[in-house]
Amino acid sequence: AKRDGRGVFRFFEEALDIAARQRRQLELDLREALMTGQFRLNFQPIYNLKADRVGGFEALLRWNHPIRGEVSPVQFIPVAEETGLIMGIGEWVFHEACRVAAGWPDHVRIAINVSPIQFRSPGFLAIVLQALSRSGLPPARLEIEITESVFLDGEDNVLNMLHQLRAMGVRVALDDFGTGYSSLSYLRSFPFDKIKIDRSFITGVAADPSSAAIVRAIVDLAAALHMEITAEGVEDDSQLACLRGEGCDNIQGYLFSRPVEIAAIQQLLPAKLAY
Ligand code: C2E
Ligand code: CA
Ligand code: CA
Ligand code: CA
Repeated sequence: AKRDGRGVFRFFEEALDIAARQRRQLELDLREALMTGQFRLNFQPIYNLKADRVGGFEALLRWNHPIRGEVSPVQFIPVAEETGLIMGIGEWVFHEACRVAAGWPDHVRIAINVSPIQFRSPGFLAIVLQALSRSGLPPARLEIEITESVFLDGEDNVLNMLHQLRAMGVRVALDDFGTGYSSLSYLRSFPFDKIKIDRSFITGVAADPSSAAIVRAIVDLAAALHMEITAEGVEDDSQLACLRGEGCDNIQGYLFSRPVEIAAIQQLLPAKLAY
């Protein structure tokens, strides 16, 4: 039995070793990806139900590795965050997204996802300013998406950064709303322009009364706080009908469009929802 135990231990030790090596290789590959231009952005339209037109696009990072193929951001963003590589990657995202968005009509915004580490770093504001000035994008057309995990390491610098961004005219959205632990207390103290209701509540909005009640409460809360609302992950007509009924401002999801390559943006700009 003793020998078995050691065998099991050795097995885990080797497994950990392999995991560590794989992670190290992923880090090396990410570093190279940034240097050799393996990243690109896709853009998913956010449809404004009140204005009945596309009101913006969210930039979503894509990585095509020569051997791995397409790697999901869900897999590589955490590694980029742990290794600090997210700083360089995030800076590239800002420049690329603002460059592309600068050519859009005035009413079309660009939404950019920002990691907590990036948002809290001392150089963040300078990167935003540089991306804006280099691209010529007006600040009012830039929206930054952060999740409440940005508050985990303290709230002071976050509030400070939010105020500075808003003073510049840049908008800030609270992403994945409802998935964290204390979203409500953050809403009380932080001046967000927009709340994005997490897809997990939208999935059941048409069929499950609890999901519908939660969505209704979030929409009402946002109205009372003068914040705009976007529903994420809208995939079918029944969800759309519910969200319209609740007075939701914007929808985003496969129903209207999946994230697309740069070349497909122009044809989406004038597109309308079927009903
Ligand atoms: P997120 O910010 O919540 O982005 C929404 C995710 O939902 C995207 O996945 C999008 O493709 C997917 N999605 C959109 N509509 C639908 C739908 O109708 N149904 C379903 N099932 N999914 C939908 P994606 O592109 O794989 O990105 C995953 C996450 O990776 C993002 O979640 C975000 O947290 C992170 N991410 C992506 N790009 C960046 C980036 O440039 N910087 C940072 N820091 N994070 C990023
Ligand atoms: Ca997002
Ligand atoms: Ca989200
Ligand atoms: Ca998410």
